[in-house]
Amino acid sequence: MRHWLNALLTLFFPILTAGFFALIWGLTVGLSTLCVWLLIALWSERQKLSLFDSWLNSPNRDALPSLNPGWDRVFKSFIKIQKKQRLSKSELNRALDRFEQAVRALPDAVILLNNSRQIEWCNTKAEEYFQITFNRDQGVQIDYLLRQPSFRNFMRNVDLETSLNLRLPRMGIDRLVAIQMIPFGDNQSLLLARDITEREQLEVTRRDFIANISHELRTPLTVIQGFLETFEDNPAADPELLTRGVKLMSDQSHRMNRLITDLLALTRLETSEPPEGEVINMLSLIQSISLEAEALSTKNHIVNVQAANNLNILGSEEEIRSALSNLVSNAVRYSPNGGTISIKWALVDNEPVFSCQDQGVGIAPEHLSRLTERFYRVDKSRSQETGGTGLGLAIVKHVLNRHDAKLEITSKTNKGSQFSIRFSKDTVVSQ
Ligand code: ADP
Repeated sequence: MRHWLNALLTLFFPILTAGFFALIWGLTVGLSTLCVWLLIALWSERQKLSLFDSWLNSPNRDALPSLNPGWDRVFKSFIKIQKKQRLSKSELNRALDRFEQAVRALPDAVILLNNSRQIEWCNTKAEEYFQITFNRDQGVQIDYLLRQPSFRNFMRNVDLETSLNLRLPRMGIDRLVAIQMIPFGDNQSLLLARDITEREQLEVTRRDFIANISHELRTPLTVIQGFLETFEDNPAADPELLTRGVKLMSDQSHRMNRLITDLLALTRLETSEPPEGEVINMLSLIQSISLEAEALSTKNHIVNVQAANNLNILGSEEEIRSALSNLVSNAVRYSPNGGTISIKWALVDNEPVFSCQDQGVGIAPEHLSRLTERFYRVDKSRSQETGGTGLGLAIVKHVLNRHDAKLEITSKTNKGSQFSIRFSKDTVVSQ
């Protein structure tokens, strides 16, 4: 309202003067006065406009030209708009930064490609997977960097539904990534790559495991089935064959039973929570294991025990018993009659160590790293003859993992082996 009043008053004065001049000197003089006044007003506004224009080149709120209330309002409104714009621009920048940080932190590789398939942007995982450096490779066509024919083919016939599994040599290991292309915007695309190496390894392990277990069960089942068919065709079989058949079938069914017991033990170790630690009286546990070893050996071996008294540890007695007795029974099973088996339990470099040394067949060095794999055997027939399932050392490995302990193996072919379990010194129960 005040602005309108000001404008009216500004107009009122020249119109009044022009009317006054028209009354005294006639209409021509009055109108000419009004025109001259309007010209002066126009020129003055033009001056202010050019002042505004030059101020716009470097708008500084501390150097506002003081013109008139109308122009002051224009300047102030402009400064307000400018401030708002600055705020929304910095908000936009912050949002962009946050978005970029989020994409950078993604566990998958992301590469933004323009319509010529040149790299516009990529995250850290993409640099790692594809061995590219954003600052160096920005603008480079992706096919120049990934030259595998399968990738080029995939890029030529991009299909949203399918992904490409590509092997990438990374840090000496072959990694497998699943690549997907997502088109967006103006013929741009997003290349996503996910590391599926572990998934593939798991799948291979699962397949191997099923193949192994089927194979392990097939032999005893074939034996049992063979005898049953013989007896079915000829019920009045020769009594000697019958006795032999029943004995073999019984052996094979025991074998299947041991296999299933070991498999269940492995599953329990893999899936259950580590048990609450209890104080294990190691001397009495080792003595009872050595008695079991003597029973298994049927006095064909000499079993020596040297175990420290009062060196007890915290853990699951059931699991530790199964680990130690696996090692001791292996020593018996893989040693010729007359061999000595030495069992020791002592502190070595402040850490409690259980060791079981034999004078048996020994193991060639190339097998040592694979011994704890399920169903890995150096000599399959010897393992089976002596009732082995091929799962004993896998069980030992799992038990040790749950007890923060390590398995150490030293062996010489035909000289013997030593299997040692080194527990952490923190597991020792102070007396
Ligand atoms: P298995 O039931 O076949 O004995 P394990 O997992 O206990 O299965 O052992 C894996 C393989 O390691 C055995 O088949 C055998 O070849 C080898 N092995 C284990 N302990 C000994 C040992 N004390 N002496 C020689 N070889 C051994």
